[in-house]
Amino acid sequence: MDYDPIKKGKIDEMPVQPNLLDYERAKEEFRWEDVKKELDWFDGGKINIAYQVLDRHIKTPLRDKIALYWESKDGESEKYSFLDLSKLSNRFANALRKLGVRKGDRVFTYMDRTPEQYISLLGGLKVGGVIGPLFSAFGPDAVKDRLADCEARVLITTPKLVNAIHEVLEELPALDTIIIVNRSKTPYDLEDKKVSYEGLMDEASDEFDIEKTDKEDYAIIHYTSGTTGKPKGVIHAHEAIMGHYATARYVLDLHPEDIYWCTADPGWVTGTSYGIFGPWSNGISQVIYGGGFGAGAWYRVIAKYKVTVWYTAPTAIRMLMKAGDSVANNHDLTSLRYTCSVGEPLNPEAVLWGKDVIGLPFHDNWWQTETGCIQIANYPIQDIRPGSMGKPFMAVTAAILDDNCEKEVPPGQEGHLALKAGWPSMFRTYWNKKELYESRFKGEWYITGDRATMDEEGYFWFVGRADDVINTGGHLVGPFEVESALIEHPAVAEAGVIGIPDPLVMEVIKAFVSLKDGHEPSDELMRDIKRFARKKLLAAACPRQIEFVSGLPVTKSGKIMRRLLKARELGLPEGDTSTLEE
Ligand code: AMP
Repeated sequence: MDYDPIKKGKIDEMPVQPNLLDYERAKEEFRWEDVKKELDWFDGGKINIAYQVLDRHIKTPLRDKIALYWESKDGESEKYSFLDLSKLSNRFANALRKLGVRKGDRVFTYMDRTPEQYISLLGGLKVGGVIGPLFSAFGPDAVKDRLADCEARVLITTPKLVNAIHEVLEELPALDTIIIVNRSKTPYDLEDKKVSYEGLMDEASDEFDIEKTDKEDYAIIHYTSGTTGKPKGVIHAHEAIMGHYATARYVLDLHPEDIYWCTADPGWVTGTSYGIFGPWSNGISQVIYGGGFGAGAWYRVIAKYKVTVWYTAPTAIRMLMKAGDSVANNHDLTSLRYTCSVGEPLNPEAVLWGKDVIGLPFHDNWWQTETGCIQIANYPIQDIRPGSMGKPFMAVTAAILDDNCEKEVPPGQEGHLALKAGWPSMFRTYWNKKELYESRFKGEWYITGDRATMDEEGYFWFVGRADDVINTGGHLVGPFEVESALIEHPAVAEAGVIGIPDPLVMEVIKAFVSLKDGHEPSDELMRDIKRFARKKLLAAACPRQIEFVSGLPVTKSGKIMRRLLKARELGLPEGDTSTLEE
C-alpha cells in the first residue's frame, strides 16, 4: 500500500531553523574540506577523536556545559560537564599509560551503560588505543571470540561480568589487564590480571598529554556478522570523527540548546558514532539511560530531561506502539522536536504512529557498521515518504547496481545498494581479513550487502539483505554463528538457520536441526538446545523456533542451502536447485 508523503512546512515557519536549509544546494556545495576546518587538528594533520569530543570544548564556554545526564535503571542520576569528562578521561588515560598501554593496543569495555564506560572508552582513545565496546549481554564465548580475534590487551568490566566469563579468560593470552569497575562495591578478589578502576582513578592525575594520533590510525573496532565465519572486526580510523560530526549536525539536526537521547548501546556502532562522538563533537548535552527497554521508563526519561532530539530504532518504536497510545499520552513528551530511527526497515505505520501519538514522524536513516556514519537519510526539510530510507547524505553517492555490481539500474528497479567509496568514516579494514575487506568493493563502489530500489525523485527504499544475514530487532546475526553454536550440542548433528518474518522484531531465528544417532526429538531436548545456545550467543541470536528434521538440504559441495530452507518454510518458489545434493 502506498502512503501519502508527510509534508514539511515552510522553513521560515519551523520553530527551529534546521541546520540543513537546502538539500540540493548543499549537495552541490558540501566539501569535507569545510568540515575539516570546523575541527581542531594537531600539527602535521594529526587528530584524536577524544580531543574533538571533549578537550577542545574546554577552551570554550562549553567547558561547564553538561555533556552527560546519566540515569540508571534504578532511578539514580548523575551529571557531568565537558570539563568533568575531559578530566576523568585524562585520569583513565594516565592509568592506562602507567599500565603500559601503547598506541594501537586494543582496549575493550564489557559493561552496562554507566558513566565509567564512556570515560574508559574516551580515555582509551586518548592513550591512542583502539577501543572495542562490547554488549554486557554477551556470553563468555562471544566475548572470547572478539578479544581473541584482535588480541585485546585490556578489558574493562565489572565484578559480576568478569565472573560470568571466568572460564574463557585462560584462553586469552594477550589479555594482560582486567580493570574492574565496582560501582556496587561488591567484594571481589584482585587476583590474576585484575586491577581496581577506582584505585587507578584515585591515583591518577587529571592532566594528560593526549596521543597525537594520525588521521589514519585505528581508533575503534566493532564486530559485525557476515554470512560465513565468526564476526569480523570492522576498523575505523580517527578521521571518522568528520563523518560523525557532520551527520549529527545535518541529519540529526543537533542544535546547541538540544537535549539529545540516543537509545543505542555503544556495543552497537550507533551507540558510539551517535551515542558518544556525533553529539559531543558538536558540544551537545546528551542523556544516557542505563536501563533496557520499557515504554513507561523511556517516556519518563524524555519527560524528566526534556529530551528534544531522540534517535532510536524500529523494533523499539514497534514495542512502544504495542504498549499502547495511552502510555505515551500519560507522559509529557512535548519537549521533543525531532525524532529519528535506524537499524532495520522502519515500516510506514511506525512513521505515522509517531506523527499521530507523539506529534512527530520518525525520520528513518540508513547506514552500517562499515560505513561508520549515516549515509542515507530523511532530513528535517524534506517531505517524508513513509517506508523510504530517504536520500543520500550530501557527500555520499549511492546507487542501485545490477546483479554483477557493474551498471546502475534504472529508477524503480531492484538491485544491490552501493556507495561510491572514500569517505572519512568509511571502515579501513576488517581486522586481519584484508581479502574479505577487498571483496566488498567492486571498482569505485563499496557493495553494502543490501538490496534496494531508488525512485524517480532519488528516494531509496530498502528491499532486503543480499546475503543470508538475519536482522532481528536491529541485531545482525550471521546464520553460521548460530549453526556453529548449535552443532556443539552433543545431540546435534547438523543445523541450518534462517530468519523468518516477525511483525515486531522484523525477523526471528528459526533453526532446523538434525540429531545424531541415539537421540530422539523431544520438547525437553528442544529446551536443552535452546538453553545451550543461550550460553553461547547474544539472547537475540538464539533460535526462537527449533524444528527437528531428518536431514538438511545441502549443495553438492556440502553447504547448507538456507535459501531453500527459507523458501520451503515460507511457501515460496524454490528457485534453482540444480546444485542440491539429492
Ligand atoms: P549494522 O552494521 O549492525 O548497523 O547493520 C547494518 C544493516 O542493518 C544494514 O546493512 C541493513 O541491512 C540494516 N539497516 C540499517 N538501517 C536500516 C534502515 N534504515 N532500513 C533498513 N535496513 C537498515
